[in-house]
Amino acid sequence: MTTPHEWYLFLDDLKNQVQDHEFNTWLRPLSFISREDGLLRIGAPAPFYKQWVTDNYLPLVERMAAFRFGEPSAIEIVVLEDESAPAISPSEPSSATTTDFPAPAQPARQLGGLDPRYTFDRFVVGKANEFAHAASFAVANNPGQTYNPLFIYGGVGLGKTHLLHAIGHLVREKNPAMQVCYIDAEKFTNEMISSMRHQRGGMQDFKSKYRNVDMLLMDDVQFIAGKEQTQEEFFHTFNALYSHQRQIVVTSDKLSTEIPDLEKRIQSRFEWGLVADIGAPDLETKVAILNRKAETDRIPLTQEVAFFLASTIQTNNIRDLEGALNKLGAHSSLMNKDITVELAKKVFASLINATPKEIQPEAVLKAVAELHGVKVSDLKSDRKHKVVVLPRQIAMYLLRQMTPLSYPDIGTRFGGRDHTTVMHAVKKIEQKIKDDVSLKNTVDTLRKALEG
Ligand code: ADP
Ligand code: MG
Repeated sequence: MTTPHEWYLFLDDLKNQVQDHEFNTWLRPLSFISREDGLLRIGAPAPFYKQWVTDNYLPLVERMAAFRFGEPSAIEIVVLEDESAPAISPSEPSSATTTDFPAPAQPARQLGGLDPRYTFDRFVVGKANEFAHAASFAVANNPGQTYNPLFIYGGVGLGKTHLLHAIGHLVREKNPAMQVCYIDAEKFTNEMISSMRHQRGGMQDFKSKYRNVDMLLMDDVQFIAGKEQTQEEFFHTFNALYSHQRQIVVTSDKLSTEIPDLEKRIQSRFEWGLVADIGAPDLETKVAILNRKAETDRIPLTQEVAFFLASTIQTNNIRDLEGALNKLGAHSSLMNKDITVELAKKVFASLINATPKEIQPEAVLKAVAELHGVKVSDLKSDRKHKVVVLPRQIAMYLLRQMTPLSYPDIGTRFGGRDHTTVMHAVKKIEQKIKDDVSLKNTVDTLRKALEG
């Protein structure tokens, strides 16, 4: 048990390790939640505190916790719900009685494993996710009646977990009596293993727990692939639920047929219902997501900075995008500066420098010509000799790959050729590279030289 007094001592330890302003800005606002089995749970007032402390002070916090509490501690930082949210009854009211110590902050409401922030309201719809969003919304409104199962797949950080939680929230809101089970495939696996090992009758409990829910939301189902016993258990759970028209929704980072070592019988069941993919967000969606998040976290973000971030942070992972915004918010508050493009440029300087340099079209022509011992003017001419035809096609291909020029733009640079000629050339090189090793080497060499 950690007393308020011990928590204060711990804060003091931290205070001695960092500058005052750092302590006051980042560490003082942290609050104690619990310490059990070597896990110290700490509350942070907003997501960007959590991010900042994680990025900058985690090793220190770990070290000091081990020092103060005499055991190596795993640290979990939990973002606390904002004050406007409905109050949560404290789980340990007695621990808040000391008058000189603020009441221990309460962990975010667990909601049976559903993150309160992952709702449909907060999900920004764009081209790449509108289908998955619509399917999720339909399923939440008519569980078991429309698409069963619903299989949502897409890359990391594209919003799969968010949608899955959103379904859970909406279903519970509409029908509080409904037993909605959200589980991560990894947790499912671990729980199964421990119920096999540790308890008598544990396996029976495990089976009946999952086979009797009204709705199963399983996240990252690709995790069960290659695990025989888990797949067996999942298969029977699936069948039990499906035969009673209970809704099943799963997410995966890949299409079911592309998950290696996933049993065929499970693979095929995932295709019984509806398969919806989430793709990479376009620029507009990224901007909208940044705006929405800035609003929720009360980070003052102008349109200009939102655009700058969305186009500079070269990622499709929305979590990274959110991380960038948090980082910017943290810098701005720490340095007491407004969030401007200038500040953003400073904060993300390393990213900006790392973006590939702009390739000059003429440099491409020159490099190709030199390597093949022809003249740039030959490439642009309409000579049809094979000595110039291949280099010309390579140059068109590289221009298309390495510059933002369109097919017609490229055609113009080759003596006003038609865009279809360029398309044909590009396709031809793409094809040839696949089995012509020497051509592939040539192209790679040129590319490297140009990227220099
Ligand atoms: P995945 O499960 O696909 O890896 P998550 O659902 O965990 O991705 O999303 C990563 C983060 O991005 C979460 O904080 C989530 O709220 C946010 N996010 C993803 N897509 C959207 C969206 N369309 N609108 C708003 N936030 C989103
Ligand atoms: Mg996820």
